[in-house]
Amino acid sequence: MVCSGVLEPLFGDARRYGVPLSEAQSAQFAAYLRVLQDWQARVNLVGDAASDVVQRRHFAESLALGALLREREVLRPDARVLDVGAGAGFPGLPLRIAWPGLRLTLLEATAKKTAFLAAACEAIGCPDVTILTGRAETLGHDRALRGQFDLVLARAVAPLRSLAELMLPFARVGGRAATPKGSRVTQELTEAQTALAALGARAVTLPLPVSGAPQTVVVMIKTAATPAEYPRKDGVPRRSPL
Ligand code: SAH
Repeated sequence: MVCSGVLEPLFGDARRYGVPLSEAQSAQFAAYLRVLQDWQARVNLVGDAASDVVQRRHFAESLALGALLREREVLRPDARVLDVGAGAGFPGLPLRIAWPGLRLTLLEATAKKTAFLAAACEAIGCPDVTILTGRAETLGHDRALRGQFDLVLARAVAPLRSLAELMLPFARVGGRAATPKGSRVTQELTEAQTALAALGARAVTLPLPVSGAPQTVVVMIKTAATPAEYPRKDGVPRRSPL
């Protein structure tokens, strides 16, 4: 076993969430934890980089999301996946460790964070992960990215009404965009209805069985191409949501 018990919090949660981890995958998570704690001294990557917090709130909760999306066939093992506002890599990078066939792109506005993501991908041996520094409002108009992804993920980036405009342009028609939400999910969904209709999507919700506060995954199903005017300019989706 890797790392004599350090990863017990992750192993316990991953088992509960139905995601078995091989020795190789455990070693990748151990390396990810090390590089994250090392960089945290210089770059504010996560609020609290304590080992058990990183393992449970970031690693394991990402795996819980992945397990649910796998079970519902929203996530296929060879899917093209984009994580918008990936920060220190959540939820995308833990999913890439658990399901190595995923073709993962991490998009993040802050260059210090993408520098970390590059270091993390190197440390865990995932040179195939694409890392993009930039804003979703700009990159959402890039022809190599727009409409290209089977699944677009984001966690803790913006209220659903704004987030939908940042995520949906990247999804292919028939693809999905999924984001975990907390206690305000019902209100966020109500407020997002106009935006979803304008962007060519409808939403369903799935309960996410995590150990902490209850969460709900909003799965947006892209039924039509997003009109060319979206996403609007940097900051506009957040400042004046649809
Ligand atoms: N998803 C990570 C990080 C959440 S913090 C997690 O759950 O831990 C939100 C991150 O989104 C920040 O790193 C911020 O830089 C990034 N972000 C916010 N708006 C963005 C945008 N429009 N385009 C790209 N990244 C954005």
